[in-house]
Amino acid sequence: MAFLEIKDLHVSIDGKQILDGLNLSIDKGEVHAIMGPNGSGKSTLANAIMGHPKYTLDSGEIRVKGELINDLSTDLRARKGLFLGFQYPTEISGVGYSHFLRNAYNQLNKSLGEEQNREVFLTVREFHEYVKRNLDAVGLDPSFLGRYLNEGFSGGEKKRSEVMQMLVLKPNIAILDEPDSGLDIDAVKAVAEAINKLIDTGAGVLVITHYARILRYMKKLDHVHVVAKGKVIKSGGKELSEELEAKGYGWLGIEEDDK
Ligand code: ADP
Ligand code: MG
Ligand code: MG
Repeated sequence: MAFLEIKDLHVSIDGKQILDGLNLSIDKGEVHAIMGPNGSGKSTLANAIMGHPKYTLDSGEIRVKGELINDLSTDLRARKGLFLGFQYPTEISGVGYSHFLRNAYNQLNKSLGEEQNREVFLTVREFHEYVKRNLDAVGLDPSFLGRYLNEGFSGGEKKRSEVMQMLVLKPNIAILDEPDSGLDIDAVKAVAEAINKLIDTGAGVLVITHYARILRYMKKLDHVHVVAKGKVIKSGGKELSEELEAKGYGWLGIEEDDK
């Protein structure tokens, strides 16, 4: 049984069905990519896995280590080591970066500490040093620690910041929704290198992207899936991402919607 299993998932937003029987399993140590036209339900899948309240799970199953988590709060899902890096990270004024992250880190380690032999306690100073090393790894200045979460961050800084948080938290499964969108080449490389660091921890990774480029920088890619109209319609290896990059989606009998 894979760490994360999604079976026949049907999800709707405001009564409109978006996911239409989606199946996907991601184990620890595996690296997956999802590609697919705009509006096919990729972000819906990511948000539904995390239990975002706007997304109604109509039927199907989401399981972590065999346990059904359909009705768990986002917070409790995060404490099982699920992490989502957002397509559009929101600015949260008044929430200090360092405070937010230390809180999340402590909660997660409290939940997984015994089971996974995690460092449960870091002093404020140790935690700052730990975060600074990770800021450095993604090319962000240490001064970010003193800022409010995502406030005034550029597009590239938001994306680097998301993967930095991922590195700090060391999730079991990380889902990254278009971590490469709107980034220049150096930033794409920095984000891919951060993903590579997470892969080294043995985590499972799901990268949602429109482009093969970020996938080429990743040290490992086991499975590529095409999502269209709320389902996985094709799966393959790394070569599938190159084929999609070269040929688009038309050959699969689905329309490209480049809104
Ligand atoms: P993708 O990430 O593959 O581009 P999404 O999962 O964001 O696609 O969107 C899938 C469908 O759900 C689209 O038709 C989109 O318009 C619709 N949708 C997404 N978010 C919302 C929302 N908050 N309210 C209403 N419809 C939404
Ligand atoms: Mg999209
Ligand atoms: Mg999306």
